[in-house]
Amino acid sequence: MQLFTCPFCGPRPETEFHFGGDADNDRPGAEASDASWTDYLFFRHNRKGPAREIWMHLSCREAFLMERDTVTHTVTATLALGGEA
Ligand SMILES: [Zn+2]
Repeated sequence: MQLFTCPFCGPRPETEFHFGGDADNDRPGAEASDASWTDYLFFRHNRKGPAREIWMHLSCREAFLMERDTVTHTVTATLALGGEA
């Protein structure tokens, strides 16, 4: 079992975490085209290699940014949201 590090609680088993989505899927503005909204809402990039993702630790219910490699599953950073993520 892999351990993820919650920025608030420290290392915990991966089963305590829930994937929240791609951190770089930026919400389009109100004037964006239908194609931009379709891309934002329905298509995922499914990157191979380094990725920035939003995860939630279910025990403390805090969301945070995780930087990890989707090939090796190596976590390189976990950062609290709201500051300089
Ligand atoms: Zn936590």
